[in-house]
Amino acid sequence: MSCEKLREVEERLQKACERAGRKREEVILLGASKSVPAERIREFYACGLSTFGENRVQEFLKKYQALKDIVIDWHFIGRLQSNKVKYILGKVSLIHSLDRDSLAQEINKRAGAVQDVLIEVNIGEETTKGGVAPEELFAFYQHLLNYKNLRVLGLMCVPPYTEDPEKARPYFAKLRELKEKLESEFLVKLPHLSMGMSADFEVAVEEGATIVRIGTLLFGERR
Ligand SMILES: *Cc1c(COP(=O)(O)O)cnc(C)c1O
Repeated sequence: MSCEKLREVEERLQKACERAGRKREEVILLGASKSVPAERIREFYACGLSTFGENRVQEFLKKYQALKDIVIDWHFIGRLQSNKVKYILGKVSLIHSLDRDSLAQEINKRAGAVQDVLIEVNIGEETTKGGVAPEELFAFYQHLLNYKNLRVLGLMCVPPYTEDPEKARPYFAKLRELKEKLESEFLVKLPHLSMGMSADFEVAVEEGATIVRIGTLLFGERR
């Protein structure tokens, strides 16, 4: 059953890549596995999914321990408290949710090696959501260049919730434009755009996503 779900998502992802004239290898499928037990993650791993993202540090650490015998590429995709940073460094390859200087400072201070991160942008400018305001992004990016143990690989967003994936398209396009502007302003290449979830990942791929974060479609509804 897990393999069937993965195959369905994989097929849709492939078609979206074709429509967009992109190669399937350009997009990482990340299983957003919050509330999914370790043994289900193991099933999906056996089906061929190897990148998973967690939102809560305690829950992540339990699964990390339980699944140490297999080679999972773990990402951290949720809000991160500075005092918990030390627990995940060295265990996650990418933190998607860097959104403030205090967190950057803590990562920089604690990291034994360079930690890859994405800047989360509050693309819908919602007061309830984390993320850097779009108009603060350039100054924030510039400031982060001071931190030697931190490498920014791109941007991440969670656009305002909507039933209609087409309504998310302008937000995805805006995130891509922000990334391109950063690249030309700072003469850098930022390889990643983490955007698109179960309801809208195909539109996100059409707008340039390089990481789609899928929970519900793979693992079912969360309780
Ligand atoms: C839960 C979560 C997802 C996956 O959401 P679905 O709609 O279940 O696919 C993606 N990104 C983040 C940051 C999440 O917290």
